[in-house]
Amino acid sequence: MSRIVLITGGSRGIGAATARLAAARGHDVAISYRSEQALAEGLAESLAAETGQRVIAVQADTASVAGIERMFAEVDTRLGRLSHLVNNAGVTGRSSRLDAADPAVIRDCIDINVTGAILVAREAARRMATRHGGAGGSIVNISSVAARIGSPGEYVWYAASKGAIDAFTLGLARELATDGVRVNAVSPGLIATDIHARSTGDADRVERIRPNIPMQRVGLPAEIAETVMFLLSDAASYTTGAIVDVSGGR
Ligand code: NAP
Repeated sequence: MSRIVLITGGSRGIGAATARLAAARGHDVAISYRSEQALAEGLAESLAAETGQRVIAVQADTASVAGIERMFAEVDTRLGRLSHLVNNAGVTGRSSRLDAADPAVIRDCIDINVTGAILVAREAARRMATRHGGAGGSIVNISSVAARIGSPGEYVWYAASKGAIDAFTLGLARELATDGVRVNAVSPGLIATDIHARSTGDADRVERIRPNIPMQRVGLPAEIAETVMFLLSDAASYTTGAIVDVSGGR
């Protein structure tokens, strides 16, 4: 199997940490981003220089069908047939109670986190599945502990989006089980990335929640990336349909 991995939302945070580890472990890597072109291009260039792998950055809004199709066409042309996918791009939307939330924020979150992730996996399945002439592959969806906590008062719509990802992971894993494609999810707890200040608009969130984490600390993006890379790898060859918490016990 080739070792070509697409990481959606790879310009920052968990996606960027996963790109770093994937390139270091001998994958050619495509990172996608929505708007942070300089960050994404800079990361791709430095990872290529450090590891000798092919690393490219592709602009694509995963809320757009045309954007997703263009992203895959670019990966096909510049790297080749995809073998691994990390379905990571996601947003929370500005945090609030549901009764105060803007419908546009809710719709944007579902479009990106659910519909976008499902359409990205659809394109990946068409390239990986043996029934389509692929050589098999591995998909890791990034969920969240929000799926079982529910995130009341913060963003229940985001929790619902990740609950959908858990169900999707289980269903797609079973659908592709005889097509050589494994599908798993990682559910991060509270991880130190920009999502808290930039997406939720709640800059104090991390310090407020930290005391409720059994390990009493925030996780690092690299700690999520390690589990993602395990699930992508042949070391996880009998693991499919699993949803793995990486949450410090939360
Ligand atoms: P982040 O630091 O805010 O980074 C988000 C990434 O997604 C960026 O690369 C961003 O691109 C990209 N992105 C956002 N919307 C996009 C769109 N419509 N199309 C394409 N790319 C888009 O987030 P993170 O904390 O690393 O989160 C990554 C994943 O982990 C998400 O699915 C999130 O729900 C999940 N998660 C995070 C935590 C946590 O505590 N951090 C906990 C549980 C789950 P630009 O740079 O161009 O904006």
